[in-house]
Amino acid sequence: MDLQLKDKVFIVSGGSKGIGEGITRELAAEGAIPVIATRSQGASEKLVEELKAKGLKAHYLLGELAEEAFCRKVVEEAAERHGRIDGIVNNAGANDGIGLENGNPAKFMASIHKNLQHYYSLVHFALPYLKKSKGAVLNISSKVALTGQGSTSAYAAAKGAQLALTREWAAELLPYEIRVNAILPAEVMTPLYRKWLDTAFERPEEKEADICAKIPLGKRMTTKEEIAALAAFLLSGRSAHTTGQWLIPDGGYIHLDRALT
Ligand code: NAP
Repeated sequence: MDLQLKDKVFIVSGGSKGIGEGITRELAAEGAIPVIATRSQGASEKLVEELKAKGLKAHYLLGELAEEAFCRKVVEEAAERHGRIDGIVNNAGANDGIGLENGNPAKFMASIHKNLQHYYSLVHFALPYLKKSKGAVLNISSKVALTGQGSTSAYAAAKGAQLALTREWAAELLPYEIRVNAILPAEVMTPLYRKWLDTAFERPEEKEADICAKIPLGKRMTTKEEIAALAAFLLSGRSAHTTGQWLIPDGGYIHLDRALT
């Protein structure tokens, strides 16, 4: 299927590591131009160099997304350099364990800021360009928004808000034919996930095997490539009548019967 993404410009927050890296690679392979917005310099340099060596297009801008000025700069520079913006992939975030007992109101708000505020800011600043291109927005949320996890109030609140904003923006942006969808990953091995396993558990390999054993389809984690393929489809005109949707590519982890073997 030709996704017709050639030379379309997509801002991908956190687009040089983990799930964001997968999406950047997929978009570039489809001939699109991913613009990575992140604080990860080394990973971005390496990825963009590799893509360029393959004749693909991509570039990156470095900064902290919690700062409104950086979000504005990302949009302005992408538009100035390429003359258009066709979509925003809101992806950067971290499950930072600010809970009820082990958090406080200031930490809660700081985490909300880092996990949620930039989802709004990037779309807000890009809106004039998205109106012109009849673009698409993709919010990367989390299964935590639906299931809870325990000890992570701020992250859960941010992820839940991203789902609400997916519906809210899909409604507000109907007149411009801008589509807005969300993907809810569950278990995807990324640098962040690796760090969590390695720091939170004495025997990370056992914990990993335990998690995989509970995933109905294939007893394995979802790959970042599988998330990215869905992302590219949702960003493309091939999903022209899909908006306001929450998609859950998780091998049946959340919704299939636990009694299945
Ligand atoms: P990751 O491996 O940490 O990659 C995220 C990238 O975004 C990193 O380069 C990170 O930089 C950057 N970033 C994060 N917050 C930023 C900020 N405020 N400003 C600038 N850069 C920032 O994470 P991931 O596991 O791929 O997760 C990506 C998204 O998927 C997140 O929204 C996460 O909540 C969601 N998700 C992931 C899973 C999973 O199983 N992996 C499950 C559910 C939801 P640093 O490396 O410096 O932090």
